[in-house]
Amino acid sequence: MTLQENILKQAALLGLDAETLSLGEEVMASLKERFQTIDGVAEINQLKVLNAFRKNKVSEACMLGTTGYGYNDIGRDTLEAVYADIFHTEDALVRPQITCGTHALALALMSNLRPGDELVSAVGKPYDTLEEVIGIRPSKGSLAEYGITYRQADLDDKGMPDYENIRQAITEKTKLVTIQRSKGYQTRPSYSVEEIGKIISFVKEIKPDVLVMVDNCYGEFVETIEPSDVGADMIVGSLIKNPGGGLAPIGGYIAGKKECVENAAFRLTSPGLGKEVGASLGILKDFYQGIFLSPDVTANALKTSIFAATLFERLGYPVLPLGTEERHDIIQAITLGSRERMEAFCTGIQAASPVDSYVTPEPWDMPGYDSQVIMAAGAFVSGSSIELSADGPIKEPYAVYFQGGLTFHSAKYGILKAYQTMKDRNLL
Ligand SMILES: *Cc1c(COP(=O)(O)O)cnc(C)c1O
Repeated sequence: MTLQENILKQAALLGLDAETLSLGEEVMASLKERFQTIDGVAEINQLKVLNAFRKNKVSEACMLGTTGYGYNDIGRDTLEAVYADIFHTEDALVRPQITCGTHALALALMSNLRPGDELVSAVGKPYDTLEEVIGIRPSKGSLAEYGITYRQADLDDKGMPDYENIRQAITEKTKLVTIQRSKGYQTRPSYSVEEIGKIISFVKEIKPDVLVMVDNCYGEFVETIEPSDVGADMIVGSLIKNPGGGLAPIGGYIAGKKECVENAAFRLTSPGLGKEVGASLGILKDFYQGIFLSPDVTANALKTSIFAATLFERLGYPVLPLGTEERHDIIQAITLGSRERMEAFCTGIQAASPVDSYVTPEPWDMPGYDSQVIMAAGAFVSGSSIELSADGPIKEPYAVYFQGGLTFHSAKYGILKAYQTMKDRNLL
């Protein structure tokens, strides 16, 4: 049997026909150079990570973890020093007690703002779940309840930062400016680190003492620099996205200025205790191995996004970003235009997942979101979006957002299975 026949045979077991496979091959052939560039970025980031491990003398003992109060947890403290070195920050907080990305962002905001301060979003509406954190949608415990006000600088009509709006949003009350790198569930572009650097310089020129936080979710290791390299005082993200490398089963991080990280630590644990407590239990090996694998895993996720964008663009669906466009995060949006196509796409992704391949995703009322959401996720870590996963709110323009792919070899077949499912249901 030739290699080709062998692939055909295996792919047939996944329900893929010959036409689907040859479409996949055509797309692959067009992406050779693109993938080389991604591999180059991954190598640079891999070296950054490796050098941080070496510099901090990561040892076998670092993998062990502590129980109880977690005093003198050498593994936890070293890991935080590793993160700080990778992101070129003064300090970092990397904890399993930070339950998710929203928690990490809420923590960074609540600990660095005081009653009477004003928060400004420089890039329009923030991520859905932050609306309740801020109090844009009223919620118990929001920043608004603590007397922290909010303003936002709306984007221009291309979805790019509007510098005049930013200037107007900043007042003498402004204490912290937040910038979201990734588009999240919006159809605006994600921003390059360079663009984020421009916003930061602009903001600091207007008000030098203002703190700038960047929501770095989905952005880590996509480029060779991070927002902390261009002046961000804090960068914040989730470990079940890029930096967990698919291995971290929980967690979030805040990396930045010593004082910002300290404030966050005092809020996460307790005033007076800060970073000194917080047992790491048995989780450290996965955190270390996850960040070590992350540059490579992020590259696989990027390749998956570009593969899918190129394929669905050929079929005539609006995709964001375009297959040929430069990437600033791992998210790919495809506007499918109907609920039925969203369901078929997600069913295909689910069916080609390593876990829960036999279930059918259905739209549900997800906490924190204002419309029903459909999700396909057959992940080792529940809800992990560095693993191949697709989701989207069931509302106009009926776009699926997908991301992840621990290995490109598996994720590519997830995309082909999504295509095949739409084809089988006559929805192309
Ligand atoms: C995922 C995400 C969040 C929230 O993270 P959760 O872990 O889902 O709470 C915030 N901002 C952006 C841009 C994200 O992609």
